[in-house]
Amino acid sequence: MLPRPEVTPLTEPYWSGLAAGELRFQRCHACGNAWLPARDQCPRCLSGSRTWEVASGGGRIISWVVYRQAVHEAFAERVPYNVAIVELDEGPRLITNVDAPEEDLAIELPVRLRIDEDDGVFLPRFTLAGRR
Ligand SMILES: [Zn+2]
Repeated sequence: MLPRPEVTPLTEPYWSGLAAGELRFQRCHACGNAWLPARDQCPRCLSGSRTWEVASGGGRIISWVVYRQAVHEAFAERVPYNVAIVELDEGPRLITNVDAPEEDLAIELPVRLRIDEDDGVFLPRFTLAGRR
């Protein structure tokens, strides 16, 4: 069985958003900064005044690694797979997977959000923009 996310009152809007087909991130009312993952305070100005917004789904690849050994037995059949950092058009960065062959990945490459259901858990993943 796949590892399960630990849903807390702080992160519940993130997970329920994915189940509803939305990738949600937080934005600070005081300084406008936007971020993921969910936090109580703005990581830039420490204000606790924040809201949730819905990502447009566009982003770009910042970096990635390719796992050739499974770090969890549930992922054994998936190797090799990439773990990427994607920056959303709105600014927040998240750790995710890009559904593309290793040789097609490149820094700054535009990607598109795709929400996958994986063993009952909805996860934000990405595809190369302009491809399916
Ligand atoms: Zn702030």
